[in-house]
Amino acid sequence: MTALASPVACGPEIRFERGQRAVFCGLTSIVWLHRKIQDAFFLVVGSRTCAHLIQSAAGVMIFAEPRFATAIIEERDLAGLADAHEELDRVVRRLLERRPDIRLLFLVGSCPSEVIKLDLGRAAARLSADLAPAVRVLSYSGSGIETTFTQGEDACLAALVPDLPRDEAASLLVVGALADVVEDQFARLLTDLGIGPVRFLPGRRAAERAPVGPNTRYLLAQPFLTETARALEERGAVRIPAPFPLGAEGTTLWLAAAARAFGVAPARVVAVTEPGRARAARALTAHRARLAGKRVFLFPDSQLEVPLARFLSREMGAALIEVGTPYLHRTHLAEDLALLPDGTAVTEGQSLDDQLDRCRAARPDLTVCGLGLANPLEGEDLVTKWSIELLFTPIQGYEQAGDLAGLFTRPLARRARLEA
Ligand code: SF4
Repeated sequence: MTALASPVACGPEIRFERGQRAVFCGLTSIVWLHRKIQDAFFLVVGSRTCAHLIQSAAGVMIFAEPRFATAIIEERDLAGLADAHEELDRVVRRLLERRPDIRLLFLVGSCPSEVIKLDLGRAAARLSADLAPAVRVLSYSGSGIETTFTQGEDACLAALVPDLPRDEAASLLVVGALADVVEDQFARLLTDLGIGPVRFLPGRRAAERAPVGPNTRYLLAQPFLTETARALEERGAVRIPAPFPLGAEGTTLWLAAAARAFGVAPARVVAVTEPGRARAARALTAHRARLAGKRVFLFPDSQLEVPLARFLSREMGAALIEVGTPYLHRTHLAEDLALLPDGTAVTEGQSLDDQLDRCRAARPDLTVCGLGLANPLEGEDLVTKWSIELLFTPIQGYEQAGDLAGLFTRPLARRARLEA
């Protein structure tokens, strides 16, 4: 089902679609979140399906001591719920005995009906009271009914916000899970700009709890953090509007927005960012030759699609056929949307068959999509890029701009080799 919404004047044409969709659930985000918060543990309360999903999504990175597991809750009636809570308590205590290094435990809800009946928020509060101060227990939902795979990160970070201490002092909070190497680069650049103190959400360790208050300005590093932003604003924090830090241009505008909010002179921004901009420009040159003029179709999957489309079109010279996104936060994405070429077709939501028809008719040079669509489309001789890789790979900032472009040029190069 499709409905055309009024276009933004001289901007992209945004329309809504509703129907069947093909997106992973929020449990998937555990795969990158458990690497980020080093003394946290993610206990999925779910079914065997959830356990399989997590194991296969994380299959590429099996650790001797993984920091996630699934407590399998079998079919049970309401009378069995008290037992389920006791069972959960037992699983948690056994886990903590075996893993005394855990400081933060997330109980992650899923969609089987027997799990929905469990009040994980209450279970987390009860366990937290018992286990404090050694271990904090929080809960959030990664259910496929409520979340797509990046919304799992949003739900996790939103669960952290009420637990942050209060502070009246001015500070900058960078929000969104970033690879440590990217976080270090941003911390250096922001410090060189004279902005501080700079803190990150999530922290690398459970004890790193950034204080928040009315003088906290926050800068989103990921475009899918609607609930986290709302929770921060309830604590008085104020968002700094900016495009997302993908590509050289996105990174410069993101840093410049923070600099403006903290009264840093534009000349200082130019001086501090110049070496990074130059390195990114060099790294992007070869990729631009491969991507310029290529027609790209982005299926809705990661919610990174709008800033990616901006990067592909403005920095790589690609032509955008359609930019799909599962949800479009018009305020958080306003700066990126404004930089898309006039008339870009942006689709919010999904009607899978209709979108597949449009993609097949357009025969794009490159299709960015979820794992489930990639194989059939490759079978139809279309070149695809898995959008989930964009979450597993460090892509933000100047030093990663070349790697970001490389994610798109690699499938094109592989196809060219095969054809040769
Ligand atoms: Fe499947 Fe729901 Fe479990 Fe996700 S949370 S794996 S969608 S059952």
